[in-house]
Amino acid sequence: MRQDSDLVAWEQLCREVIGCRACPRLVRWREAVACQPRRAFAQETYWARPLPGFGDLEAQILLCGLAPAAHGGNRTGRMFTGDRSGDFLYRCLYQAGLASQPFSKSRDDGLQLRGCYITAIVRCAPPGNRPSPQEMDQCLAYLVRELALLKKVRLIVALGQFAWNGVLRALQQLNFHVRPRPRFRHGSEVALGPYILLGSYHPSQQNTFTGKLTETMLISIFRRAQELIKS
Ligand code: SF4
Repeated sequence: MRQDSDLVAWEQLCREVIGCRACPRLVRWREAVACQPRRAFAQETYWARPLPGFGDLEAQILLCGLAPAAHGGNRTGRMFTGDRSGDFLYRCLYQAGLASQPFSKSRDDGLQLRGCYITAIVRCAPPGNRPSPQEMDQCLAYLVRELALLKKVRLIVALGQFAWNGVLRALQQLNFHVRPRPRFRHGSEVALGPYILLGSYHPSQQNTFTGKLTETMLISIFRRAQELIKS
C-alpha cells in the first residue's frame, strides 16, 4: 500500500466498517454486551462497534480470524485485544518476530505488527461466537476490499475452519479459486493465484486450554508463513 490513494481508500474502508449497522442481530448484541460489562471491566466504556483490520499496511502476511469476542475486541476496539485468545496469539506473534511486544491490551498500548496484518471474516461480536451465514455473507465484502487494497499480501493464515472457508470465498470473489474446495486442517497449504493459504487451529481457549493448539504449534505456523513468503 505505497500509494496515497490506497491509504485513503483503506482509511475510508475502516470508517465504513466502524460505522456499519447492516446486521440488526449483531448490532443489538454488540451494544447489549456493552451495557452489561463484566465486573472486571465495569469502569470501561466498551467500543461496541465493528472492528476494522489492524497492522502493517505493507504486510506480506495476513491473519484472519472469525469475529471479535464480546468482552475482548468488542470492548477494546482492536482485533484479538483484551481476551485470552489474543493473549495467546500475540505471545506467539512476538516470538516469531511479527509483533513488537508479546501482549495487546488496548488500542493505545504501543503495539506494532511487523510484516503482518490482522483481520476477521465478521467484524461484530456475534452471540455464542456464531455469526449466521447471512451475516458472514454481508461482512465478507469488507475482507474482499481489504485484500484488494493490501497489495503486498502473499500469505494468508486462516485461524480456524470458519476463517478458512471465509477466506476461500473472499478469494473466489477476487477470481482466485480452486476445485475441489480444499479442506481445512492445521498446517494445510493451498496456492490460489498470488496467495498461499495456510490453515491453523484458532487460538480459542477451547483449543489452547486442551492442548489442541500449543504456542509451539502456532509459532511453527508463523515460521512456516515466513519461509513461504521468502521462497
Ligand atoms: S458483521 Fe459486518 S456487515 Fe454486519 S453489521 Fe457488523 S460490520 Fe456490518
